Amino acid sequence: MTTGADLTTATVRRAADATPPLITEADLPPAGHFVDGKFLGGSAERVIDVIDPSTEDVIAHTPAGTSEDIDRAVAAAVAAKSHWARLVPKDRSELLHAIADRLAADTELLSRLESANTGKPFAVSRDDVDMTIDTFRFMAGALRATTSMAAGDYAENHLSVILREPLGVIGVITPWNYPLLMAAWKIAPILAAGNTLVIKPSEQTPLTTLKFAELVADLLPPGVVNVVTGYGAAAGARLAEHPDVDMIALTGSVPSGRAVARSAAETLKRVHLELGGKAPVVIFPDADLAAAASALRVAGFWNSGQECGAACRVLVHVSVAEQFVELLVGEVRSLVIGEPTAGEDIEVGPMVSKAHFERVTGYVERAKADGVRVATGGGGIDGPGYFVAPTVLVDVPEGAEAAREEIFGPVVTVETFTDEEEAVRRANDVPFGLAASVWTENARRSHDVAARLDFGTVWGNSHLVLAAEVPWGGFKGSGYGRDLSVYALDDYSRTKHVMHNHAR
Ligand code: NAD
Repeated sequence: MTTGADLTTATVRRAADATPPLITEADLPPAGHFVDGKFLGGSAERVIDVIDPSTEDVIAHTPAGTSEDIDRAVAAAVAAKSHWARLVPKDRSELLHAIADRLAADTELLSRLESANTGKPFAVSRDDVDMTIDTFRFMAGALRATTSMAAGDYAENHLSVILREPLGVIGVITPWNYPLLMAAWKIAPILAAGNTLVIKPSEQTPLTTLKFAELVADLLPPGVVNVVTGYGAAAGARLAEHPDVDMIALTGSVPSGRAVARSAAETLKRVHLELGGKAPVVIFPDADLAAAASALRVAGFWNSGQECGAACRVLVHVSVAEQFVELLVGEVRSLVIGEPTAGEDIEVGPMVSKAHFERVTGYVERAKADGVRVATGGGGIDGPGYFVAPTVLVDVPEGAEAAREEIFGPVVTVETFTDEEEAVRRANDVPFGLAASVWTENARRSHDVAARLDFGTVWGNSHLVLAAEVPWGGFKGSGYGRDLSVYALDDYSRTKHVMHNHAR
């Protein structure tokens, strides 16, 4: 089994001296809130630095939104809602297709902005933009084909008609790991279902959400989409408590989910929460171990492990553990780490911020202090930038912190099990329930174990493959509500029963 930590071999490839900067001033969106179809300054003077995590340079400033800024944006969304709700599906669909076309024409710019603000390798940013476009196209089609119970007489001489109505104004709060894509997973179904919205992007990564607003400003009626930048505790909290917001949809951490749900309770608004994850990867002795190791190279380290569905917690049968770890470590050692501008082949970028770098390396340091063995990686890499070496921790005991809590970085833990019951019990023994995978060549076992895993998505012999047609969302501490698919359209609409007495 491979054992020696190899921090020294993990190096960051830097951009060559003559490489042009990722973005210029001209690429930046206007530094203001987008309200009622226009960019406006904030009501307070305070601004937030936007940082490139590969270089630690400040690349932009955005206003720290206040309650007044949120109130203005909500008022615009309220004013726009009846016109938008009354559009027939065909017209809303055409506008969503037009948004997709506009984004497609600017894929390259959006990818550069996303990489500059998050440090994502281009392969990841481009994938984000492609899926953003596909989300709008899927929702543009799906909104024209929604079905519900047939109209008919279910009580004698009474005709029942089920209407599907928008909820009204939706408040959206997004995280920093997929800024544009998580915005699209909310905006597309929310608009498709006939609602208007106010979105507050993460204070760390506002650029592509503002650029989205700039790009589509002339396509949508004013007030249908509004963006307010700022901190969660101020702008986000006001959005969650606002009496004219009919639903609050958050993708983020468990504490933010709790805070939002608590304040939403005051006005009894609906809540949609996509929270954290800690995805188990259950590997049985008959699995194709090489295929599993190569899949984990991607699924464990995509977006530098800052991924809620990341394949971050391996539970492997003890009889094949040594062989599997050897294969996995081989894959992980060959990952290419670097700045986005250092080449198309870069696979792992920096953590999004200094605070997050410290959080991730803190988990690794505590695991080491507790006697967990580092098979490869094992800590931060010298700056500039917040790079962490892709890490595999082995011999992780049951219940260890690194195997229970969401690290949200390029760190995969490996535990062993001896029988199927134990594997299922331990896989489920985490507070999260977002995603999991099971690896076996036995189809009966694969179906049976998948049914017993308490997670919103379970892959068989795969991990982290998504499509706009299928729902994404969790159980337990991972929240409730579904992104993507027709289930998201359900979440962002309400049913009304109209019953006509036609007895004569
Ligand atoms: P975070 O919770 O710190 O921030 C998310 C958003 O919530 C930000 O816009 C933030 O400003 C806002 N916020 C924070 N406190 C708030 C409050 N009191 N009221 C209102 N808004 C508040 O999360 P993050 O660090 O940006 O993102 C990482 C987390 O997101 C991870 O836990 C990850 O698993 C989760 N995530 C989940 C999914 C999913 O689909 N389930 C997808 C991506 C990320």
